[in-house]
Amino acid sequence: ARPLDGKVALVTGGSRGIGAAVALRLAEDGADVAITYQHGVEPAAEIVAKITAMGRRATAVRAEAADATAVREAVETVVAELGRLDILVNNAGTGAMGPIGELSLEDVDRVLAVNVRGSFLAAQAAVAHLGEGGRIVTIGSCIAERVAFPGGTLYATSKAALTGLTKALARELGPQGITANIVHPGPIDTDMNPADGPFAAGQAAFTAVGRYGRPEEVADTVAHLVGPSGAYITGASVAVDGGLTA
Ligand code: NDP
Repeated sequence: ARPLDGKVALVTGGSRGIGAAVALRLAEDGADVAITYQHGVEPAAEIVAKITAMGRRATAVRAEAADATAVREAVETVVAELGRLDILVNNAGTGAMGPIGELSLEDVDRVLAVNVRGSFLAAQAAVAHLGEGGRIVTIGSCIAERVAFPGGTLYATSKAALTGLTKALARELGPQGITANIVHPGPIDTDMNPADGPFAAGQAAFTAVGRYGRPEEVADTVAHLVGPSGAYITGASVAVDGGLTA
């Protein structure tokens, strides 16, 4: 038997990058998996096809994380299509970097709406369906723990807020047997932060291991937290950052 047999997981922003790696890993562990995406119809369909090929059920729901109605409806669609919900992985996220004086009101509203409000509303909608053994994992960032570069005011604000959400969820849901944790990735090679990008060398140098991480290395930790192995871990901030915050 696999650790997630019979479970249903929803991974927001699961069409590419870390979310896609998490979706595939949870399917390998036995879960049926739903993903959301914003524009990536084709990459989302590809992930669904890969999961289906593993013999699991899968579905992709277009849901802009800044759109409250879309986020709420996505959770209900997943429950309707896959029958239940056991695991929420709040992964969809965005960033706007730059000196504080150069960030627009639109930047502020967009980043907070996607990263903070979107995660909050997805958790709120999910909690109505989660039972004993339920799991919420939110993807934060190492910037919530250590701001190693200038230009991160808005992104750090948004990711640090998710630590508060996680701890409060852990307190509130613990009596129901539901855990909530936050995973803080360091520099991970994705479209958002490619390992050959202009700021990559500096980020790799700030880690202890001297390299970028792979999305699968984040997925391994998420799998641990959402499986039976994670039952006594809640309210925790787990770094998967190659020692960037060491
Ligand atoms: P990518 O840009 O590679 O992938 C982002 C995924 O999220 C895609 O599936 C995308 O869908 C989806 N998405 C983006 N914005 C929205 C939105 N507004 N509504 C719905 N879906 C959305 O990003 P990463 O995999 O690198 O990042 C994933 C998470 O990890 C984010 O929360 C990010 O902040 C965090 N993180 C990443 C780090 C890194 O170094 N890569 C480091 C620390 C944290 P679509 O295909 O439709 O665009």
